[in-house]
Amino acid sequence: MRQVPPTHRRGRLGSRGRAVPQRTCVGCRVRAAKSDLLRLVAVEGVLVPDHRGRLPGRGAYLHPDPACLELAERRRAFPRALRLAGPLDAGPIRSGIGLR
Ligand SMILES: [Zn+2]
Repeated sequence: MRQVPPTHRRGRLGSRGRAVPQRTCVGCRVRAAKSDLLRLVAVEGVLVPDHRGRLPGRGAYLHPDPACLELAERRRAFPRALRLAGPLDAGPIRSGIGLR
């Protein structure tokens, strides 16, 4: 029996057949390719999209989908994912989601 690493079992493969980095959406909790998710970071209490993956600090990953944003907010997933205590303003995300 051939051993298949867990990440390869249902992971998506890149164009050249290699496993791509995966992250879990903080909204729907579904794992997806990192490139399919929007990285969010908190800057002074405001959630901002990190389109280039360059902003420092902890990031939370979310599908660029209003439904996932709503789920994440309802479950207070952002403070948990970012290890922050206070509430976060998701306004910029809400207006920018889906635009990428
Ligand atoms: Zn999602």
